[in-house]
Amino acid sequence: MRAHPRPPAAPPGIVIAFGALAVSAAALLPACGRAAGPAPSPSPVERPSILLVTLDTTRADAIGPEASGVDTPAFNALAARGRRFRQAYATAPETLPSHASMMTGLYPAGHGVHQNARPLAAAYPVLAEALRGAGYRTGAFVSSFVLARRFGLARGFDHYDDGLAAGRAERGAAETTERALGFIGGAAPQPVFLWVHYFDPHAPYLPPEPYRTRFAGRPYLGEVAAMDEQLGRLAAAFEQRAPGPVAIVIAADHGEGLGDHGETQHGNLLYQSTMRVPLLLVGPGVPSGAVDTPVSTRRVFHTVRDWAGLGAASSLRADAADVVLGEAMKPYLAYGWLPQVMAVEGRHKAIRAGTLEVYDVVADPGETRDLAASAGLSRELRNALLDYPVPSLQATTPTEALGVEERRQLASLGYVGAAAPPTVRRDAPRPVDMARLFDLQEKASGLFVREEYAAAVPLLQRILAGDPHNLDAALRLATAYSALGQDARAVAAFEKALAIAPQSDDVRTYLALHYARGADWPRAAPLLERIVAESPDRLPALEALAVIRQRQGRVEDAIALRQKIDALREPGAAELVALGGLAMQAGRTTLAIDSLEKARALQGAAFAHDLELGVLYLADRRFPEARDALDRVPETHRDYPMALFKRAQVSVLLQEPDKDARIARARQRADETTRPLIANERLFRP
Ligand SMILES: [Zn+2]
Repeated sequence: MRAHPRPPAAPPGIVIAFGALAVSAAALLPACGRAAGPAPSPSPVERPSILLVTLDTTRADAIGPEASGVDTPAFNALAARGRRFRQAYATAPETLPSHASMMTGLYPAGHGVHQNARPLAAAYPVLAEALRGAGYRTGAFVSSFVLARRFGLARGFDHYDDGLAAGRAERGAAETTERALGFIGGAAPQPVFLWVHYFDPHAPYLPPEPYRTRFAGRPYLGEVAAMDEQLGRLAAAFEQRAPGPVAIVIAADHGEGLGDHGETQHGNLLYQSTMRVPLLLVGPGVPSGAVDTPVSTRRVFHTVRDWAGLGAASSLRADAADVVLGEAMKPYLAYGWLPQVMAVEGRHKAIRAGTLEVYDVVADPGETRDLAASAGLSRELRNALLDYPVPSLQATTPTEALGVEERRQLASLGYVGAAAPPTVRRDAPRPVDMARLFDLQEKASGLFVREEYAAAVPLLQRILAGDPHNLDAALRLATAYSALGQDARAVAAFEKALAIAPQSDDVRTYLALHYARGADWPRAAPLLERIVAESPDRLPALEALAVIRQRQGRVEDAIALRQKIDALREPGAAELVALGGLAMQAGRTTLAIDSLEKARALQGAAFAHDLELGVLYLADRRFPEARDALDRVPETHRDYPMALFKRAQVSVLLQEPDKDARIARARQRADETTRPLIANERLFRP
């Protein structure tokens, strides 16, 4: 593999220029033909209803008859009648890339999703589209924001339930199961394709009772045991109530480090703890027993298609050994460390990250003895490793298309995108050599996204001490100082970031954001104007320029920029309130009302701008709406006397019978601001 980036994964229809990619080319290219038309299939009676259950963060050794330290009776009962793959591998140790592989049949280099929060492009055909096209009723119930509809896996599902309680980024298996059971219960005669995703074993580990007590000190296994109980409920209900024969496939999206090779969670390395996963098939035409041939979970795609009568190629119902591939690109795409690719064939697993590591995963499942010097690897395996394309750093899409709240939701799950794509580094380290920084990075990024800058600073300093060319950490440190008002330190940190990446647009953008915050804000304008002229969709630059325009008193320009930002990215409540404020300043009542009402719809009871809304409706002579808005202003509001004054005005204008009492109340509770207003108010004169 080359240290320098190759072109990004090709969109459908464009063939990537591979070398001798005998083994895996098909897995890197999109399936030909779209989901469309009725494909050749057996008669409808024979087609089974299909249940796909994906278990998040579930290690292969934490579930099933060979699990250690935990009993999983529901999974074991299914395994006793099904085909269990003991050497199954995820395509990537992250939720969205791994699920995208199961839904497209492609490795991440093929479908282009290398990290969470980068949506699967609409051009790739997905499994549910094919099944719906073949007459299946399709439903999905996912338990984490990482798989929310916006990330591209909802296509083809008649029903896609990604609903989470306000402020939550995940939901438990019991709730997801409850909702999924409702979907199975329908009376429709056509076969069902149901995908249920459980998230429980993902950190933080907080199993429900009785598992919390039973697994005290081992909460990760407690989460798995609790999930297994729900899996049992779900599978039993599906077998009872889904129409026709029933097929079930269960797979994890990746495992969990739990300290192996220095990794606590997952996403940074390619060892067995995170890449080897449980995979089980139960259903028509599936022989029972355990299989030791290495397989990729991307073949869930082919297997489900096979059951649905859409073609048997690569189905796991038959044996077809191939070289199994996998990648872990997060450290590369976020920090510029070495890209990592793995290939497994037979008992040999090779990991390429700069140097080559080889393990006999049957004799040495802990991967403690590197056989690189002695093991004879096949040509297919070597070629597959060399030919696996590494994504381009330049083509990396930042997560800035997400709103503030969404970035926080991801951060609460431990996923924070890089502040900027890294530069190509001559000193790029092997990720495994940087394991001591994994937890620090996660913690620092989480604090940063939650705007706890003072707490983030010492962690970012430690990261930079251990990895001096880490642009992400340098930019976050500079931005943290800037937000804390420590100007000299911020400027020094920006200089360091510029030294790491002299050509970076991102560094210039963040520097401009720094100027925009402080007394030097006029210096930001030309920097931002240039960036926006060169890249008109650069969200952070647009946001900073909107702030500058406001400070310059160019309110209409600021409004236009805000509207452009909102068109590029679904606005959150804070952005809508900001736009509402600008519109009020510009005297644009309709736009102000519209923005604030949208914010209210998002925030519900937490909305704190009913007084402004009331004033706006009053100005627009929409008195009943003004009354309702002002009635919602709580007595604890800082400007409650103003709300009483405005409400009394509305009362007179609406000719309410209690208008005199309202005027009296406004007088009685008047403050410095409202006293003269009340005294001069003609409406209040008898
Ligand atoms: Zn996951």
